[in-house]
Amino acid sequence: MSDLLYLDHNATTPVDPLVRAAMLPWLENEFGNPSSVYSLGRRAAAAISSAREQVASLVGALPAEIIFNSCGTEATNTAILSAIAIDPDKHHIITSAVEHSATIKLCEYLATRGYKITWLPVDRSGCLDPAKLESAITTDTAVVSLLWANNETGVLFPVEEIATITTRRKVPLHLDAVQAVGKVPVSLEGLGAQYASFSAHKLYAPKGVGALYVNRRARHTPLLRGSQEEGRRGGTQNVASIVAFGKAAELAQANLLSAAERVGRLRDRFEQALLSNLEGVRRNGTHEPRLPNTCNLTFSGIEAESALLLFDKEGLCCSAGSACSSGSINPSHVLTAMGIKRDEARSSLRFSLGCKTTDEDIDRALEIIPRIVAKLRSLLPENGSPVHMAS
Ligand code: PLP
Repeated sequence: MSDLLYLDHNATTPVDPLVRAAMLPWLENEFGNPSSVYSLGRRAAAAISSAREQVASLVGALPAEIIFNSCGTEATNTAILSAIAIDPDKHHIITSAVEHSATIKLCEYLATRGYKITWLPVDRSGCLDPAKLESAITTDTAVVSLLWANNETGVLFPVEEIATITTRRKVPLHLDAVQAVGKVPVSLEGLGAQYASFSAHKLYAPKGVGALYVNRRARHTPLLRGSQEEGRRGGTQNVASIVAFGKAAELAQANLLSAAERVGRLRDRFEQALLSNLEGVRRNGTHEPRLPNTCNLTFSGIEAESALLLFDKEGLCCSAGSACSSGSINPSHVLTAMGIKRDEARSSLRFSLGCKTTDEDIDRALEIIPRIVAKLRSLLPENGSPVHMAS
């Protein structure tokens, strides 16, 4: 573990020791079911209430607007299905071409059930044009579902402008805030979004716990029916992980601005060094603002999957496209939607820094990456196509 150089925090984050310490009692003596009436159960229910307050505070919402669930994917699925249930006569969904698979796969499924999906385009810088959203809305539009921050490029969508449009046009809005929360300020109060999705494992808590924000004036239809979470999400709550999520939210809120400033400085140094010292490197997602921790680069003449294997031998973890599509040789749908050629997209890597990334880590990465890139380029055949190294 000591020589691990982890630059893949958009895929997942290590559990913070303070988060782990906060959750341990709930895996040991405090094992009560939060629905039980005796004190063991009531203590678990109280711990969930505190976590709800901590998560609500981080995202600028009321505790009653936070529903705990299993992950960001569940939150996104619930939000979209909830929104389309409001008016079953409406059969149009607007999303973008660069969404996470949680949204894409559901929308593709809904397309087979008679829904028309508008996939809003993005420009070369990774951003979408709010005017295109405005003109895509029709009287048949049931929901608009868009990312707050892109997991591959870090580009932030103009959520205030988007929410102004959906509010004016009276269309429910879901924001996938999974990558934004804990990295940039997120304030839902008064924004105009009806739903937002979060995932604990992106902010130093364990995998398998997430939350859905449902504005107090929005309609909600549970995905899982049962009595827990006020009947809004059935299933006995994962108390230890919810407590962990709450603690992680509290830590993220306390450190947000200083962490963003520090991580942004490291990311900029990393990015600038590669862009200026290595030939054939281009930055993807040039739109500002963007997440301070994310850097997506094309290294011409290499195949990203081969680079990942060689980096792995050196302990360096990063990603080719989103974590969910790693291992696949399909180029990233995000990069191709930005107009990047398929072979260039296949030569692209995402580096995502975390709150424990140090200057020494960056120095080490800046030694490893140019060496591996040069090695892969030296293996280029005469025709110039990148070499694919079998895993
Ligand atoms: N949305 C975005 C933007 C993500 O990056 C991810 C995870 O990578 C998800 C949704 C899904 O979250 P989870 O892994 O908790 O299902």
